[in-house]
Parts: sequence; structure tokens; C-alpha cells
Amino acid sequence: LTILGIESSCDDTAAAVVRGNSVLSNVVYGQTSLHADFGGVVPEIAARAHAEKLDHAVEEALSIAQLKLADLDGIAVTAGPGLIGGVLSGVMCAKGLAAATGLPLVGVNHLAGHALTPRLTDQIAYPYLMLLVSGGHCQFLIVKSHDEYERLGGTIDDAPGEAFDKTARLLGLPQPGGPSVEKAAADGDPKRFPLPRPLFNQAGCDMSFSGLKTAILRARDAVVAEKNGLTVKDQSDLAASFQAAVADVLIEKTRRAVDSYLRLSPDAPSFAIAGGVAANGAIRQGLMDLCQKANVSFIAPPLRLCTDNAAMIAYAGLEKMAAGEQDDLSFSARPRWPLDQRATPMLGSGK
Ligand code: ATP
Ligand code: FE
Repeated sequence: LTILGIESSCDDTAAAVVRGNSVLSNVVYGQTSLHADFGGVVPEIAARAHAEKLDHAVEEALSIAQLKLADLDGIAVTAGPGLIGGVLSGVMCAKGLAAATGLPLVGVNHLAGHALTPRLTDQIAYPYLMLLVSGGHCQFLIVKSHDEYERLGGTIDDAPGEAFDKTARLLGLPQPGGPSVEKAAADGDPKRFPLPRPLFNQAGCDMSFSGLKTAILRARDAVVAEKNGLTVKDQSDLAASFQAAVADVLIEKTRRAVDSYLRLSPDAPSFAIAGGVAANGAIRQGLMDLCQKANVSFIAPPLRLCTDNAAMIAYAGLEKMAAGEQDDLSFSARPRWPLDQRATPMLGSGK
């Protein structure tokens, strides 16, 4: 099957064409500069930018894939969860294309897109364990089929990516915070500031990162009060201490998640990561070591498929269509859409 995917649930306008396990094109227009002055994504600005850019993204994705609409077998679009204005822009664009061409259409859960990415890149077998860790999400899922997910736990407050971004702001480092904090942490002393590891010893896989944000703020303020500013060394030590705390929590909770997953006795146990924070070298290395010890394959898809993109949406749509599923043109965009329930049919969904 050859599927066009469309994604516009947050601040990336994306279109891609996937054929089987090949990504024929993967176009992503970011909006970072549009939101830069506001300290976060402004939903109204995002929705307008999506509406303006979607047609171009689709055209470019088709042109890079050297295909016409008529060469496709179907269209998949993110139908939620996300900022509703953006999701609606994408859904409207996809419905228009489907109505004009008669191509089958499916609405895809954005999180399912992330969760199924290791099947696109590495063709791994169900059930596998996934850690989705990004600017907006942090959760462990056992992926049992394209529409069956068991959530083992996740953050009860903020996502680690958001904490990295906040830490970068506190330390005067550039956004996005993940890469700049990681860079600063490289020469830092992770033991200089003993930061909390919330919920570390609690059973289960739940995590919390909001207390860590407060702790890094206090640690910074204490240094600033003492020395009237931060030296580069202080910056590095704060960054390293923060990164070590996040890594410790993620690795310990992954250890517990792997234990629960292995109780299902999967034939070929695999653990996959997705989301921008998975790019972090220290976190990645810790997870890799843990998997090696547990005899579980470690899958890390390339970063451009781990952060928001439309290839993952096309692929999730492909799995749905391969299972004979299709939505009619009346399905709605959903601002909230949890994954850990057997996919309930969307409003107006026809099979
Ligand atoms: P979501 O996809 O959950 O809606 P998002 O768009 O913020 O949220 P991604 O694009 O997957 O998520 O990831 C971006 C996040 O990843 C940012 O918070 C960024 O700081 C973080 N990040 C990127 N690189 C690194 C890194 N090397 N170390 C730690 N965090 C990182
Ligand atoms: Fe995402």
C-alpha cells in the first residue's frame, strides 16, 4: 500500500508518502520562529500556519516521492490528540483530498503514529515495549497491535522535554533546551547539585518531573545569590546534575516496565523509544545498557522519525487500512484521545 500521511497536531506542518516499509518522502515545516516571541506554541498562530502550509507540504511530499494523487492507495491524517485548530486544518485538508479523488481515508491517533514507528523502521513484532518521551508526553506502552495499547505508567505532571526546555531558560541556554542542556552537561559535574529523583522508589512506572523543575530553579538561585551570577562551570554543573536526575528516573522506571513486559513472555522482546528526548546521549546509553542486560533488543528509530512527522501517520494509517479499516468523511477531530483503550470508533466512523 502507498499512503499519504498528514500531520498538524502541534507546531509542525508535515506530509509524507510511505509505501510498505519505505519512506518515499517526509516533509516537515517547523513553526519555531513563529512562536519564538511567546515562550510556547500559540494555538491560533499554529492553526493559521498549518492552514497556509498544508497544501504546499502535500505537494512537496508527492513531488519528492515522484507520485500523483492517483498513484496512492489511501490518505491518513492525524485526527487527535493535539491543538484542535491545527488538527482540524489537517483533517479538512485530508477530507478535501479524499472527496476530490475518492481515495480511502483514515483518521489516525498521533500517539499511535509515534508508537508504531519502530514497526515502520525495524519491522519489529508485537507485542513490544515503547517509551514515548518528548516535550509533551512521557509514557510506557505495551504495543500489542495497531489498535491495542496497554499503558504501564507515565508522568503524572510534566514531560521531561518540557523540563529540559525550562532548565535551559533558567540557565540562559538557547531553545530547544534538550540539545543545549546536553551540550552544557558534557563537561559538568553531575554530583555537584544533589537534585531529587521523584517517585524513584515507588512501585510501578509513574514518574514526576515538576518537582525537579523547582529544584533546579532553587539550586540556580542559590548559586546566583552567592556569586551574583552563573559561571560557565556553574551552568555545566547544573545542566549535568539535572540531566543525571532525569536519566536516573527514566532508566529506573524503564527497568520496572521491562520487568512487567517480560512477564508476557514475548518471543522476540523489543524495547523502542520515540520522542525528541530519546535523542539524549546519556539517556539513550543508559537504556541501551539496561536492554542489553535484560536480553531485549533496543530500537531507536532515526530522530527525524522520532519527533513529529507525517511518515509515522502514513504508516499507522497503512496498518489500519491493511486491517480493512476505513473512516467516512464525517469523522471529527479530537483534542483528547487516549491510546490505552481499545480504539473506539470515531464519531461517524464507517467500516
Ligand atoms: P509532542 O510530540 O509530545 O507533542 P514535542 O513536539 O515537544 O511534543 P518532540 O518534537 O518529540 O516533542 O521533542 C521535542 C522535545 O525534545 C523538546 O522538549 C526538546 O528539548 C527535547 N529534546 C530534543 N533533543 C534533546 C536532547 N538531546 N536531550 C534532551 N531533550 C531533547
Ligand atoms: Fe508528537
